[in-house]
Amino acid sequence: MNERETLDKVPTGLFIGGEWRDSSNGATTDVEDPATGETLTTVSSATAEDGKAALDAAVAAQHDWAATAPRERAEILRSAFDLITERADYFAMLMTLEMGKPLAQSKGEVTYGAEFFRWFSEEVVRIAGRWATSPDGNTRLMTMKQPVGPVLMITPWNFPLAMGTRKIGPAIAAGCTMVVKPAQQTPLTMLALADLMAEVGLPAGVLNVISTHDTGEVMEPLIGDDRLRKLTFTGSTPIGKMLVKQSADQLLRVSMELGGNAPFLVFADADLDKAVEGAMLAKMRNMGEACTAANRFLVHESVADEFATRFAEKMAAEKVGRGTEDGVTVGPLIDAKQRDKVAELVDDATSRGASVVTGGSTTGDKGYFFEPTVLTDVSADADLFREEIFGPVAPISTFSEDEKAIQMANDTEYGLVAYAFTTDLGRMIRVSEGLEFGMVGINQGIVSNPAAPFGGVKQSGFGREGGPEGIEEYLSVKYVGIAP
Ligand code: NAP
Repeated sequence: MNERETLDKVPTGLFIGGEWRDSSNGATTDVEDPATGETLTTVSSATAEDGKAALDAAVAAQHDWAATAPRERAEILRSAFDLITERADYFAMLMTLEMGKPLAQSKGEVTYGAEFFRWFSEEVVRIAGRWATSPDGNTRLMTMKQPVGPVLMITPWNFPLAMGTRKIGPAIAAGCTMVVKPAQQTPLTMLALADLMAEVGLPAGVLNVISTHDTGEVMEPLIGDDRLRKLTFTGSTPIGKMLVKQSADQLLRVSMELGGNAPFLVFADADLDKAVEGAMLAKMRNMGEACTAANRFLVHESVADEFATRFAEKMAAEKVGRGTEDGVTVGPLIDAKQRDKVAELVDDATSRGASVVTGGSTTGDKGYFFEPTVLTDVSADADLFREEIFGPVAPISTFSEDEKAIQMANDTEYGLVAYAFTTDLGRMIRVSEGLEFGMVGINQGIVSNPAAPFGGVKQSGFGREGGPEGIEEYLSVKYVGIAP
């Protein structure tokens, strides 16, 4: 399927109660190709009235959906996994077109995203409670787990499929219905997924998908609607904080997957081949537009020069271009604002004394490209050590003592993921225990795994997605005391 055929196949309406419809006021949003700045297609933009209709549909479906047999929900998830896998090229092309990442990375996301459906298809049949005798022997304690109820899911643009399936998979498994709002820059992948879910037999109303450019106006009334039971959000920390405040009135169950500022520690005893390979993955996956992206490279002074030279060689060898083109390994950033922010962060670092080893500038005559960049001698007060870079820029700083390295790594309000490279077992343990992050990658530059609990501490949020923990976010425990 070529680009045009792919775009012609994707539905562009609002998916509510199992049907496609236009926005109630006819509004639409253009979806842009970040590699060219041109419009790819146009999708319906929901109004507050459409948002309410989507929640109406989710509420209407909740009772019957919660009562389905676990095996039925498992089979739907498994069929969806199979069909997404069969249509990997279609989903990958859509993602590359709307988000920009190279096709090979989009295919990687299809595999990763679909895997949440397979994982949770296997978890559905293991939802269980417990049975106990009270300490005084007078009561039997029974617990059961029930679906939380209708969920609102708000997702970002950087992983248009996986950030959705990581929420939709466990919600379907638990027996929750849902309204999904994808990011307005990348609605197409989620609309294609809604179509596929209907095809595999997900009952009408269980999954509703609404894209909108009136985001706040449509979301706030839903968060305030007393029929909603849970809000799950993946996105930036400032928006996450605002949504937590909005959800307080109803004391909603809330999960927050927010920003990161990942340190990447390379100790003197590290295997440098592995460290450079890990650095490429941790930095360049998604052009650096990942919450898990290595944001600060902290390298022991004895290996810093060699690490920087080898890392910069690899960065300089990357091919920047439109993600659909052969051999391209680095696509455009999502929009002009993001590209300009990356440029500003680099300028700030160099104005404070950083040296550019490779890259350092925007590139291309259209689209939002930035060169893969390595900076050394970055001062601790540079803005890019405090803020998420969200671009292909690797700032390197050095340390001499382990304790100092851990202290530097923890010196951030974020706490999503940290990476450490060392061959010493004792150091692995000490460093893993000392890092104040929800996830730690040891000798690997990627931690995302459907079987693992993904999530942060501090201002990176709370709640876990994936693993056996992921389904608990969508279940409530009920205790029943029985007098025998
Ligand atoms: P964002 O600006 O916070 O947007 C995320 C989502 O929130 C989008 O769907 C956006 O809709 C929506 N939103 C914006 N304003 C809203 C409002 N007033 N009410 C309700 N929803 C609102 O973040 P982003 O730029 O898309 O994504 C990048 C951020 O996500 C980074 O900080 C990254 O670290 C984080 N992230 C975290 C994880 C994780 O698992 N921890 C994973 C991926 C990304 P519109 O598109 O309509 O604005």
